[in-house]
Amino acid sequence: MHDLVIRNALLVDGLGSPPRKGDLAIAGDRISALGVVEGPSKASLDADGLALMPGIIDNHTHYDAQITWDPGVSPSPQLGVTTAVIGNCGFTIAPCRAADRGLVMRNLTQVEGMSLEVLERGIRWGFETLPQYLDMLERQGAAANIAVFAGHSAIRTYVMGEAATQRVATDGEIAAMKHIVLEAMRAGAVGFSTSTSPAHNGEGGVPMPSRLADEKELRVLAGSLREAGRGVFMLTKGGHTRMEFLDELGADSTRPVVIAALLHNSTNPESVFKDLEAIRESNARGRRLVGAVSCCPLAMDFTLHSPYTFEGLESWQPALPLKGAAFKDLLKTQAFREAVRNELARPAHFRLFNGEWDKVHVVEARRKDAEQRSIAELAGAAGKDPLDAMLDLALEEDLDTVFSALLLNSDEEAVGRMLRHPASLVSLSDAGAHLTFFNDAGFGLHLLGHWVRERAGLRLEEAVRRLTSHPASVFGIRDRGALKAGYHADLLLFDPARVDRGPKQRVFDLPGGHPRLTTPAIGVEGVWVNGVRLSGDALPGRLLREFSP
Ligand SMILES: [Zn+2]
Repeated sequence: MHDLVIRNALLVDGLGSPPRKGDLAIAGDRISALGVVEGPSKASLDADGLALMPGIIDNHTHYDAQITWDPGVSPSPQLGVTTAVIGNCGFTIAPCRAADRGLVMRNLTQVEGMSLEVLERGIRWGFETLPQYLDMLERQGAAANIAVFAGHSAIRTYVMGEAATQRVATDGEIAAMKHIVLEAMRAGAVGFSTSTSPAHNGEGGVPMPSRLADEKELRVLAGSLREAGRGVFMLTKGGHTRMEFLDELGADSTRPVVIAALLHNSTNPESVFKDLEAIRESNARGRRLVGAVSCCPLAMDFTLHSPYTFEGLESWQPALPLKGAAFKDLLKTQAFREAVRNELARPAHFRLFNGEWDKVHVVEARRKDAEQRSIAELAGAAGKDPLDAMLDLALEEDLDTVFSALLLNSDEEAVGRMLRHPASLVSLSDAGAHLTFFNDAGFGLHLLGHWVRERAGLRLEEAVRRLTSHPASVFGIRDRGALKAGYHADLLLFDPARVDRGPKQRVFDLPGGHPRLTTPAIGVEGVWVNGVRLSGDALPGRLLREFSP
């Protein structure tokens, strides 16, 4: 007996097959039949032509901290995500000794876009080791299925303490890290994640610990996945990280390697395509590399109180440890401004902000006539250099002026090519991080609404494949990501004529009433996780611990 039959749906199977009309039945937590479904059922639902697809697998999230106080991992499940991979880029909170909690939280504030106060009030520390963290998540449940990376920065801090952000590791320390990675893999981690990106800094501009790792350390830790015989190696790369080295890590680990963050830069338009071609060539030699790309333009809201947009610049480093009057004094100096201008004038392989002042707008200002105008425009009108125009305005307003910068991925012709590239993986929502800057948790709905319906840049079945069975196969997620009898009933019912993510909104529901950005779902008619339809406080998601080799 089926528990539920969804009738008259447009079935999009996640495997790339052309959509077809049919029914789908659920029994318990599994899909029990599809096509023309007969036999008795306890309930039925007429989909009336709406599309039914496997739930979205979001392979790049950062819910590691949030999930401890919000097992609903808001807003991803409402946006169609039924499985989330957490712990990307090496930013995890386990393992962590009680004495190191302050250190780990200070590392996370900048990259997660959450204040120290939010993390201090929010995180429930019911664990020390990564296996204990997994057990805690399993006990508390979640709205979506969760897979967890063993994160390099937390592991490095656990082994090296404060020195993790200061120096290369000794052979003994590397061996200790490897031991922890192997233990995590045995306990059910989905892989190992790390970052070499200069945009990744902790409080006061202290580099994230993984950035201090030398090539030897990365090789040994990649090699631990070969020993484990499972897991994905995930790395967010800085411009100095060579593709040849990543090819070697692919060979050392023999595992899939996910390379982030391949975002299109209009001032260096061919660089991501060179990376994608290098990945394709590696794979022709037997590696299993993918390039993580995004279907969303990368836009960030920021104030000069916390200007993530600029913090990866070499010339901005002197500003990072400064606060209050000392920070403002530095922003006023000509030498500092000159150094920033010079750096922006030099080409870069990967850089978040590239001096495109026509794409930086004033969102909220005391000077009302400046609102909605670009920095390029304001500078032109005042006969000033654009950097001067932005900094002078912010300084006049005690740094409270809110700017919005369209940083990367704004050339849709190029982004379309990236989304269709055989070496790319649709990824990079960063859900759970950068909460005050942007929120792309609805990336899947954007792919279906904008890229399939509005731009016709992808066929529906191909977009759905890239949100479901493709990530499932890269990450070894079993029996999910396709509409198949016997698979888990993780489902998204939506209206293809309306599906989209709504405009961003600021809500104040973080611990202590702090703000974050979110987007509502449009055209989502139902989400099921393990056969349970999501509503209210339901937590039908499972902790995933078993992955295909
Ligand atoms: Zn990330």
